[in-house]
Amino acid sequence: MRAFAYERPTTLQGAVALLAEHGSEARLLAGGTDLIIRLRDGSIAPRIVVDLKRIAELDGQIREHDGGLTIGARAVMTDIAADGRIRRDYRALAEAAAVVGSVQIRNRATLAGNICNASPAADTAPALLVYGARVIAAGPAGTRRIPIDAFFVRSGVTTLARGELVTAIELPRPTSRPGSVHLRRTRRRGHDLASVTLACAVRADGVTQLAYGSLGPRPVLVSDETGLLADPTAPELAKMRRLEALFVGASPSPRSMRASPEYRLAMLHVLGLRAVGTAIERLAQGSVPR
Ligand SMILES: Cc1cc2nc3c(=O)[nH]c(=O)nc-3n(C[C@H](O)[C@H](O)[C@H](O)COP(=O)(O)OP(=O)(O)OC[C@H]3O[C@@H](n4cnc5c(N)ncnc54)[C@H](O)[C@@H]3O)c2cc1C
Repeated sequence: MRAFAYERPTTLQGAVALLAEHGSEARLLAGGTDLIIRLRDGSIAPRIVVDLKRIAELDGQIREHDGGLTIGARAVMTDIAADGRIRRDYRALAEAAAVVGSVQIRNRATLAGNICNASPAADTAPALLVYGARVIAAGPAGTRRIPIDAFFVRSGVTTLARGELVTAIELPRPTSRPGSVHLRRTRRRGHDLASVTLACAVRADGVTQLAYGSLGPRPVLVSDETGLLADPTAPELAKMRRLEALFVGASPSPRSMRASPEYRLAMLHVLGLRAVGTAIERLAQGSVPR
């Protein structure tokens, strides 16, 4: 591991100034579950690590705003998975947070770190996409909101500009509470990154949104507005054909050690159909977890 400077600013302004000064030579430290591993294996070698944990303006609170929720940059997976409001209105996100790593990882890993790491396999990304989340970023030019679909570029790369960091993630109020679910496929039980990770939300107006990850350079959102997928009486074969059309852009890497492209694509369709069925059931039940 190359030696690096360590800073622990106490204000947002201080952190932004460090990031603006050092650019790509600086890395932020939240829970460290991605960062420390990459520092150790040498895949990154920043000159400075900026610890977020003492910044007064950043916290791990989950707050209500205009009927939606704002999740602070330091909120960890354990708290997200356990939050009653998330489990009720954004169930796929609670389910995704609950399968990240192990108990120890979930106690440290933040939602903000999960999306800023921008792994195509990030489990929370599909759920954030189907709920239309917005990323709140602070930087030298002030604060801005980035729609989550405009946030991911490719593995390790987001649309955050030099000097910017994520202060919170906003979940807009659901227009009507959708039936939603997160599903994933891993090589084994226990902690493993997903070969396919997928979220689905079926709305009462007949719109179905699906988002998937681990099948290309970034997570992808697709939408069915024909009403076919949301129709509980539509034949399975017709739904499978529709899913094939929606998933046409999936392009899993042939170089991955986790699963072959053929297997990932097959599982994407299987999980997609299963997720649509579960989401329809949950919509009918009112989507409240037992
Ligand atoms: C054993 C193990 C199992 C895992 N299993 C899973 C899994 O099943 N599913 C899954 O999705 N992930 C998994 N992960 C990955 C990891 O736990 C998550 O990506 C985690 O959410 C990262 O959050 P963190 O707070 O630890 O981020 P850190 O490691 O602190 O940071 C990650 C990256 O995000 C940047 N960053 C952090 N916070 C901010 C911010 N506020 N603004 C801007 N940039 C920021 C950092 O600079 C760094 O580049 C696993 C990791 C391990 C070690």
